[in-house]
Amino acid sequence: MTKRDYYDILEVSKGASQDEIKKAYRKQALKYHPDRNPGNKDAEEKFKEAAEAYEVLSDQQKRARYDQFGHAGVSGANGGFSGHGMTIEDIFSQFGDIFSDFGFGGFGGFGGRTRESGRRVSKGSNLRVKVKLTLDEINKGVEKKLRVSKYIVCDECSGTGAAGGNAYTTCTTCRGSGHVTRVTNTFLGQMSTTQICPSCEGQGRIIKSKCPKCAGEGVVRGQEVIPVKIPAGVAEGMQLSVSGKGNAARRGGINGDLLVIIEEEEHPELIREGNDLLYNLNLSIAQATLGGQIEIPTLDGRVKIKVEAGTQPGKILRLRGKGLPEVNSYGHGDLLVSINVWIPQHLSKEEKRILEKLEESPNFKPVKGKADHTFFDRMRNYFE
Ligand SMILES: [Zn+2]
Ligand SMILES: [Zn+2]
Repeated sequence: MTKRDYYDILEVSKGASQDEIKKAYRKQALKYHPDRNPGNKDAEEKFKEAAEAYEVLSDQQKRARYDQFGHAGVSGANGGFSGHGMTIEDIFSQFGDIFSDFGFGGFGGFGGRTRESGRRVSKGSNLRVKVKLTLDEINKGVEKKLRVSKYIVCDECSGTGAAGGNAYTTCTTCRGSGHVTRVTNTFLGQMSTTQICPSCEGQGRIIKSKCPKCAGEGVVRGQEVIPVKIPAGVAEGMQLSVSGKGNAARRGGINGDLLVIIEEEEHPELIREGNDLLYNLNLSIAQATLGGQIEIPTLDGRVKIKVEAGTQPGKILRLRGKGLPEVNSYGHGDLLVSINVWIPQHLSKEEKRILEKLEESPNFKPVKGKADHTFFDRMRNYFE
């Protein structure tokens, strides 16, 4: 399924300001709001689509990546990237405040609420971790086991925050329903809005005796080893999101996400330029003059390449497909070998004598330099 352009979804121009984007999103979200389109699957999809577009375009960094790389810049092949599979609940918990600006109230009623129970579900915060990868790991893709310190569900009370079975009492404010109803006037007319009960935070019950281990929070500090699949071809600064692996929420809410930020370790011999790799090959005077098989490093091990006799320094050899794979596609970059000739800096008397002898030969006279525009054109093409 091809994804629609985020700017088209929100019906804004590419140069839209943050304010315009927010307004445009609000318009779409109100139009396709599930409360206004009950049971309408198409409206629900549009509602989610708008939220995804807004999630990206409202974030400066994500928007910049999207402008540069399109959907590939903000999503990924393994489905683990941000923006995928957002549920209605996620949307309310993330963007619920956008509705409250219109007088709908934040949680509850027209704003955010959860579908199953009408009770508020808290959301754990997202966690950010950096992971450093070598070019070899980026080349093949890698699974990393990340040890993360975070809030985890309290095992003593299974996240309820209550001590034992008889620890609850029904909330008197809402009489156990978890919400209170209020009639308000909005620009859409009189609306009955349901608010989360402030006394029990929508739980419908109040904890009488708190779990001693977590003091009633339902979460404790802990560690988790989280396996993260990193697709081949990622680059410095890219962010993967592992849904549900962030901080656990208080009292059995929805976990936050784990955001994995990619860092690149420098390779001792190869330089990355987009998906291409650059290698600076130093030939001896004799190798450049006589030609031969020369060994060079690649990410798939060392290989021999043929250097023609009489190769001039500055020549660039292109090894197709020997660069990095494109993330989220089948393409591959190239390995560019830039040839340089190493001039010895210390010579013995004997070596000096041989060179002076060679210098007398007409074959050693350099040809006159010409105005060679193709050289600069080539450079531009390679490094642009
Ligand atoms: Zn506990
Ligand atoms: Zn209550």
